[in-house]
Amino acid sequence: MSDKLAIIGAGPAGLTAAIYAGRAFLEPLVFVGPAFGGQIATTTEVENFPGFPHGLQGPELTEQMREQAEHFGARLVEETILSVDFSRRPFKLTSDGQTHEADSVIIATGATPRKLGVPGEDRFVGRGVSYCATCDGFFFRNKEIMVVGGGDSAFQEGLFLTKFGTRVRIVHRRDEFRAGATLLARAQENPKIEFVKSAVIEEIKGNGKVTEAVLKNVKTGELSATPVDGIFVFVGHTPNTELYTGQLEMDHEGYLTVDARLHTSVPGVFAAGEVHDKVFRQAITSAGFGCMAALEVEKFLDT
Ligand code: NAP
Repeated sequence: MSDKLAIIGAGPAGLTAAIYAGRAFLEPLVFVGPAFGGQIATTTEVENFPGFPHGLQGPELTEQMREQAEHFGARLVEETILSVDFSRRPFKLTSDGQTHEADSVIIATGATPRKLGVPGEDRFVGRGVSYCATCDGFFFRNKEIMVVGGGDSAFQEGLFLTKFGTRVRIVHRRDEFRAGATLLARAQENPKIEFVKSAVIEEIKGNGKVTEAVLKNVKTGELSATPVDGIFVFVGHTPNTELYTGQLEMDHEGYLTVDARLHTSVPGVFAAGEVHDKVFRQAITSAGFGCMAALEVEKFLDT
């Protein structure tokens, strides 16, 4: 017998969808996958999620969402979906060894921030290396900040980080920026922003927390050690959509194409969160998308 709803992914989008669908007696089956909680679960302090005036830890937030979802009858399983067949209903989802059938699916597999892939980066995540200015900027008040990237995200987040840091250096691998003219002009006018062009980070060093970035000038090969407290990396995101290639419509960057009600190109398959949203990328907006998708599933199953 097929389930009414399968949810792939258990970050804020997937878990919120599970809460709403659970309350609608859909008994959703939630595939947790390799990263329970998604990106927010890798953040230490979450201070901007409404309802928690004193903040809370990222894992604590997602743990509470899980408890709430299970309270309403969601069934979370520690399986990772490895292949899907959306060609006919019920849809088929196969994990390592098991095939499940579902009348509707919400895809909430999120996106992964791209990493630099340099020595020290992984070691200092949460200790000076961050992929989220909104989450972590506050911890770098009156500190030296470095932003890596030359696109809109690097500029937008770099501008945001000037609220906190004494200085924000934007390090970009080329001489020309990809960011749009407005953001570029705003950054150029901001006295706290400095540009380091044609440079890449070769290594991140520290002692318990980040203290230094080793920069390389890509034209001359010259290396320089720059003292820094916070390194924010904005070199793009990769949506986790490989599984759906050839089955669902995507844009040229691999984000799932959805309509205003989060329907994908296959009726009965919905998407929620960063798997389709490359604009807002917040835990609260992903949770909102999860809610919307679950409400749409209810309507879909009723008709
Ligand atoms: P993006 O436009 O793909 O820019 C990524 C930047 O990172 C590029 O400058 C790229 O350099 C650099 N980069 C990539 N890999 C790197 C590496 N390994 N080492 C060093 N640098 C690397 O990504 P994004 O800025 O996140 O923007 C994504 C989309 O969201 C875009 O369509 C953007 O317009 C949109 N967005 C819009 C706004 C806004 O309108 N306010 C804000 C944020 C995002 P190269 O330039 O050399 O390729």
